[in-house]
Amino acid sequence: MKIDLRSDTLTLPTPQMQEAMNKAPLGDDVYGEDPSVNALEEKAAKMFGMEAALFCPTGTMTNQLAIKVHTRPGDEVICDKLSHIYLYEGGGIAMNAFSSVRPLEGDLGRITAKMVEENINNANDVHQPITRMVSLENTVNKGGGSIYDFNEIKKIKEVCHANGIILHLDGARLFNALIETDQTPLDYGKTFDSISICLSKGLGCPVGSFLLGKKTFIDQARRYRKAMGGGWRQAGALAAAGIYALDNHITLLKDDHRRAKEIGKMLAANSWVEKVYPVSTNIILAQLPQNITSTDFVEKLKQNEVYCVSFGKHLVRFVTHIDFTDEQLEVLRTRLAF
Ligand SMILES: *Cc1c(COP(=O)(O)O)cnc(C)c1O
Repeated sequence: MKIDLRSDTLTLPTPQMQEAMNKAPLGDDVYGEDPSVNALEEKAAKMFGMEAALFCPTGTMTNQLAIKVHTRPGDEVICDKLSHIYLYEGGGIAMNAFSSVRPLEGDLGRITAKMVEENINNANDVHQPITRMVSLENTVNKGGGSIYDFNEIKKIKEVCHANGIILHLDGARLFNALIETDQTPLDYGKTFDSISICLSKGLGCPVGSFLLGKKTFIDQARRYRKAMGGGWRQAGALAAAGIYALDNHITLLKDDHRRAKEIGKMLAANSWVEKVYPVSTNIILAQLPQNITSTDFVEKLKQNEVYCVSFGKHLVRFVTHIDFTDEQLEVLRTRLAF
């Protein structure tokens, strides 16, 4: 039995999701005529209490569009140094938006209102780039799926508001945070100027992310998406998968998190592992000692058909997802006992 915990993007659509995809009414989305894409965008916007949404192929595209629309060349974006927008989007901030980045060192990828306040540049000083936006990530991928304290987010919002700074959320895995906390999508919609969310991660869709914001912002993002070559046509089958996932897959995340905590315990008991990061959602990070590299560890597991990824020289990542079952969890228990 192959156990693949490299990423929550590897999942295949369920038969029910495929059925929803097959039945989706289609049209040309560049003409605004795909009923399924329109339905997904309306549903997502309503869910978060935001004016409009834009369905895109990837979370990188939704993040990059947000940064492109919010900033002008030479502006600065504040984020944690572990942020996906900074580490894993191919230098897109520089390439697409010509903006500068101020990466801060937070706690497992989470920055504070105080840190934001201390890093806002003086807009009247020509030496300094203009601090235009703050981007938070929730949950934090490189922070081991860590969740932001919503009170801190609200404080960050106050600092941004007082300084005329835009607040963006890379919520690739926001539903993983929502299911573990008291907040609703509406709370997030009220707090952020723009939000990017992935359907292709824990929610189990084959493709897709959506961007949320004001209507004028989404209109601009749609324009840039076209310029980037991202105007897609009969994308409705993918949107129908998204609608199906929003209706049926959010509650399943709780099981992913339960299984992740179990894996955390198994890894803590493994003799090759030095330390396991706190497991809050569906990501497990295990730190290895200096004499064992992540490549050695990944190879060792591979021999028993267990797949995880190297996330640093002595760091490995496991991610639970909709295709990882309780049966696999029990098999994994024996395979991690060494
Ligand atoms: C996966 C991910 C994205 C988007 O990735 P794509 O592969 O481009 O969809 C953005 N932010 C975070 C934190 C992610 O984990």
